[in-house]
Amino acid sequence: MTEVLTPDICVIGAGSGGLSVAAAAAAFGVPVVLVEKGKMGGDCLNFGCVPSKAMLAAARHVGAIASASAFGVNSEAPKIDFKRVHDHVHRVIAAIEPNDSRERFGGLGVRVIDGAARFKDRRTVAVGDGIEIKARRFVVATGSSPALPPIPGLDETPHLTNETVFDLTECPRHLIVIGAGPIGLELAQAFRRLGAEVTVLEAATPLAMDDPECAAIVIERLDSEGVSIRAGIKVVAVRKNEDAIEVKIEGADGFETVAGSHLLVAAGRKANVDGLGLDAAGVAYDRRGITVNKKLRTSNRKVYAIGDVAGALQFTHVANYHAGLVIRNALFRLPAKVNYDLVPWVTFTDPELAQIGLTEADARERKIDFRVLRWPYHENDRAQAERETHGHIKVITGKRGKILGATIVGAHAGELIGTWSLAVSQGLNIRVMTRMVVAYPTLGEIGKRAAISYFTSGLTSPFVRRIIAFMRKLG
Ligand SMILES: Cc1cc2nc3c(=O)[nH]c(=O)nc-3n(C[C@H](O)[C@H](O)[C@H](O)COP(=O)(O)OP(=O)(O)OC[C@H]3O[C@@H](n4cnc5c(N)ncnc54)[C@H](O)[C@@H]3O)c2cc1C
Repeated sequence: MTEVLTPDICVIGAGSGGLSVAAAAAAFGVPVVLVEKGKMGGDCLNFGCVPSKAMLAAARHVGAIASASAFGVNSEAPKIDFKRVHDHVHRVIAAIEPNDSRERFGGLGVRVIDGAARFKDRRTVAVGDGIEIKARRFVVATGSSPALPPIPGLDETPHLTNETVFDLTECPRHLIVIGAGPIGLELAQAFRRLGAEVTVLEAATPLAMDDPECAAIVIERLDSEGVSIRAGIKVVAVRKNEDAIEVKIEGADGFETVAGSHLLVAAGRKANVDGLGLDAAGVAYDRRGITVNKKLRTSNRKVYAIGDVAGALQFTHVANYHAGLVIRNALFRLPAKVNYDLVPWVTFTDPELAQIGLTEADARERKIDFRVLRWPYHENDRAQAERETHGHIKVITGKRGKILGATIVGAHAGELIGTWSLAVSQGLNIRVMTRMVVAYPTLGEIGKRAAISYFTSGLTSPFVRRIIAFMRKLG
């Protein structure tokens, strides 16, 4: 017999977005059902942020050993036991897993159902034949999957994606990565440091979402570490022969074949909409994902979509941000709207690359009267002490000093961007940053010095210099 459930909210997908909605709804005492067909925690915990950052942490130790002699610390070349790197990655997942577990959510008062959810009609979701859910509101949080480009031969050629790469227990001899976005480059650097030869193939520009001048600093570092990045090429075909995977590429100089031991496809993401019955629910979608308005409502007023499946910036913190907006809209009827100018993102390579708000290119495109303030890491005492002098901050302000955006490339950029995210979200003026007392010696001073340059850069103008020279003559 079919069990019919009538909660206030039914959440589909227990990843970053779905778990946040379910936990918040339960905390407010709202009856909530959460349906998950795979692993609790979704991509972020199992195949994304967590394993990739754990692997990067292992790779960072290799980098630290390699640069130790400059500090007068001599060490032998690191010996990498890749099986233990694998175990470290999975121990980190296991340590975080309880936070996202069925048991924890059950304890919070969420009814967790195992299985694939599918809309039967505009107001009913079915899980298998046994359960029907008729909720007041539905939240689709089904995430995304690796997009496999239509490359001839790919289907028949063994390849890794983010869903399988963290299962490797031996380091690839030569890893070929298709895609030079954040995922491709983070993994490229990690595998290179852990002992693999790495070639990255990119049809367009590496880190295309980011400020090109700052992205170039990351690319240079990867290049100097031996990651071969081939941009502006087309992957024409792939095949496996007896002892190698061959990728045929077409570049400016014609055709060429790159041979490696393993192939990783990191060429974008595809929204998880298949099998959801969205047509039956009257929920519009396209190839980017489910179509939502600024309140994250779909074409069916009872249904919201959040996170990767909602087709915008695909990050865990965006899924969490979406979750907060849906709670405000659906539970409290507050008119909260999404604003992607307030969303930071970080590429966790070494050096890190962090962005909030407008880049210089965005400001130009929007035809804003703006200024660019800069400060380099090498002018910072802490960066000198740590020998982390590569990189800089770029701050974009409006004509009267309103902070519109910031890009940081360098050590701990992902931590430093937080201050600027606050500034952008609160519409602060650059003057506020100059009044902030920053502890010495910290990398945070880099941002303050950039802010001060808003007021002092006039001192370098010929007009001001002439006045200063004149005053000096007067004694
Ligand atoms: C390698 C990699 C590294 C990343 N690193 C970062 C990072 O450092 N920082 C960052 O912010 N983001 C990072 N991301 C992105 C981040 O993982 C995603 O943006 C985030 O997981 C999206 O959350 P979500 O809730 O939308 O989807 P997910 O977390 O993917 O969850 C969706 C869930 O829905 C379930 N589901 C799907 N269909 C159904 C159905 N029909 N019925 C029931 N359940 C269903 C799935 O099984 C899954 O558990 C990374 C991604 C990858 C791949």
